[in-house]
Amino acid sequence: MADPQRKKVEEIVRAEHETHGFAGRFGAGLPRVYHYIGDLRSPDRHSKQEAWMLAQLAMLAQLAMLAPVQPAGRYGVIIVICRWSRRATKWDGQMIIGAHVGTSGGVAKSVQRGVAMGAGAIQIFTHNPRQWRGPGLDGVAIEDVKKALEAEPAVASMVTHVTYLINLASPDPDIYERSRVSLACNLAAATAIAASGAVLHPGSHKGAGFESCKARIVDGISWAFEHASDSLIVGEQLAYRVRMQGQVSTLLLENTAGAGGTVGRSFDELAALIEMLDANGLSDRIGVCLDTQHLWASGKDYTSVKTANHVIEEFDQAIGLDKLECLHLNDSKVPCGAMRDRHANIGDGMIGKQGLAALLGHPRLGSLTAILEVPGDGHGPDHNQVDIAKETLEQGIAMRASLVNDGQPGK
Ligand SMILES: [Zn+2]
Ligand SMILES: [Zn+2]
Repeated sequence: MADPQRKKVEEIVRAEHETHGFAGRFGAGLPRVYHYIGDLRSPDRHSKQEAWMLAQLAMLAQLAMLAPVQPAGRYGVIIVICRWSRRATKWDGQMIIGAHVGTSGGVAKSVQRGVAMGAGAIQIFTHNPRQWRGPGLDGVAIEDVKKALEAEPAVASMVTHVTYLINLASPDPDIYERSRVSLACNLAAATAIAASGAVLHPGSHKGAGFESCKARIVDGISWAFEHASDSLIVGEQLAYRVRMQGQVSTLLLENTAGAGGTVGRSFDELAALIEMLDANGLSDRIGVCLDTQHLWASGKDYTSVKTANHVIEEFDQAIGLDKLECLHLNDSKVPCGAMRDRHANIGDGMIGKQGLAALLGHPRLGSLTAILEVPGDGHGPDHNQVDIAKETLEQGIAMRASLVNDGQPGK
């Protein structure tokens, strides 16, 4: 680290120390770090990078100067970084393995479910995924989620998945209207609980073709962003009011397996939507969630280091890796190119552990969160699947390290 930067950080940390005092434990010192990472979500890549570097330096300085040396020191560092990452979807470290968790008994319970299975991040539904109308989250639920996340730093970030019924590609005016209102409500809820992003399947044109529906999708998303912060709409539809503060949550467009005219089956389709959304002024509000099963089913084989590198390169060319915010980590019950959305447990499907490892170990995916959406033993992701996913990630990192050690570039 450059000396002037280190000095600057040390000054900040010292000033913080003098102003706020330090209780001698990591936990008590944490909020201070937030001050100088406030603009990590900056749309400008350079200031984002700079902010990240500063945050990293600040954390190191804080640990070095203020934290008592203790055996759990390394863990302390991880906690700091993870807590930060809740503020932004990306961070610069090893991929976080997370899981989709249920919300029965209250949304806040989902946080404990994540902790119980060893997940570093969670995905939840804020609305019944198979109904148009609420109930969404009320003010109490929103506060409970926030408190639960504060109490459980092991869960570093949270994304939401929006209602499945939403289809902004639909030519049916009634479905379209319901879709955009529902998306606005889902975005409002994601924003209210400070989720890193809300995942959306862009829709299905039922065979009419992508060209026929892309403008509709873009208009629908733009409308939803405009109205997500409009408490009247939210109030009317869901009988709760959310006072929006700051920006609406990021919307993550998910790639699809390709069946039934689903939009987002190719990087080019996602790129076209993103370009049009950029033109509508949403460039810093849109990201991509790449589902490993959908990717495989859509015909992309990434099961060797070479093919994984190629697929990531293709993504970068078409969309740009800076747009990739999140992975859905699933094995596949169907072969590559089968175009069907059928998730399998990690290692039990046709991609296999080795195949997924080749992708997960890609060095440019290290900043992402990977969310399991696997069947588990019939009740969704569980501790066993989280462990297997973590092993798979380690396997992928080791696979690439051995290539580098052999003097191969990994291509
Ligand atoms: Zn998915
Ligand atoms: Zn799926």
